Amino acid sequence: MVFEPTEEMVEQARELPPGLCDRCLGRRFAKVQAATNEERGRAVRAAIEAAGERSEPADLCPLCDGIFDELEGMVRAALRKIGDREFKTFLVGSRQDPATVELERRLGFPEHLKNEVNREIGKRLEALTGKPVDWDNPDITILVDARFASVEVQVAPLYLYGRYRKYDRTIPQTRWPCRCRGKGCRFCNGTGKMYATSVEELVAGPIMRAAGGTGHALHGMGREDIDARMLGSGRPFVVEIEAPLRRGLDPGGLERTINAEAAGRMEVLGLRPSGLKEVRELKASRAVKTYVVQVAFDPPVPGEKLKLLEKMFTGAQVEQRTPERVSHRRADLERTRKVLEFRVEGPDRFRITGEAGLYIKELVHGDGGRTRPNVQEALGVRCSVVSLDVVEMGGRSDGQGV
Ligand SMILES: [Zn+2]
Ligand SMILES: [Zn+2]
Repeated sequence: MVFEPTEEMVEQARELPPGLCDRCLGRRFAKVQAATNEERGRAVRAAIEAAGERSEPADLCPLCDGIFDELEGMVRAALRKIGDREFKTFLVGSRQDPATVELERRLGFPEHLKNEVNREIGKRLEALTGKPVDWDNPDITILVDARFASVEVQVAPLYLYGRYRKYDRTIPQTRWPCRCRGKGCRFCNGTGKMYATSVEELVAGPIMRAAGGTGHALHGMGREDIDARMLGSGRPFVVEIEAPLRRGLDPGGLERTINAEAAGRMEVLGLRPSGLKEVRELKASRAVKTYVVQVAFDPPVPGEKLKLLEKMFTGAQVEQRTPERVSHRRADLERTRKVLEFRVEGPDRFRITGEAGLYIKELVHGDGGRTRPNVQEALGVRCSVVSLDVVEMGGRSDGQGV
């Protein structure tokens, strides 16, 4: 395609700083006619020279500093940094000297230098790797610093969604670093952790081996107490693997490996690929939860008196100050949560469905009056929680499954 500059363009080109390279000269007229900036620049320069004026490029272009001569080197550097890392899609992004951005704006450039650099590197990488550019969700991002012609590769995390059941009353949901901040001390026997393992580590271990990442995180839809079991259809989570070398994983196979290694402690259901969007949804979710709680009364309470609790607490609005046991790490707030259903299932067993955030142990023992109303006060006897299980999440309020 031949680019034909108008008189007006030639006039505008005369206003530009002298010595621009073809690409920078042509970029002043970017998006006009189907042509490359290089073709536009050559045509404009030819038109100026045809009018008997001088318009030769300088040894070093005053706008781009010769960055376009470095394209091949930057592409090679990007490929070297990618190595044999698996990826399906990529994106090129650039940093550009703010002074150049401002200069281009003042000179009326419709396209910035960094856009052209991104496009040129992207075209070459597409041809060399056979992988397409993805603007929204690239597996890797190649960051070019146009000031120094340097290249950096950022790897998007890998996300897998699943639900977990937890049977072990001694493991937390996520890795819990010791007060020594992981360095290892006498208190943690040199492990750097408060607990030997966690749902996060049991889930992430086999995935890390398969994906070859540099770290992991587990994003749960809320969390249960360490000593509470998580039953029913399980708690939704997304596990995040940082900087994976391999992305083409087999979720079904990983689920079997996780469950074999964690047998008896926890298990995973429905592992499948996920993304950051789902992490945000999980974090924003306010799921209704159903619990089964084993209680001890001192002295014992007759069955007909216990039964009165159902009427008293079903539908009750409960005022809860932040529980004593977590007040060292959470702000002391008072909030109101609703008990949706309270059922007495036996002489020492309740089934309670509550809004997200309702503290069940405190509802039973009252937390020294920090939760009101509470079962202990209602019965007028000492109540303690023997064990707590989450039996359903986000399900029907009768806890019989989704
Ligand atoms: Zn230039
Ligand atoms: Zn320690």
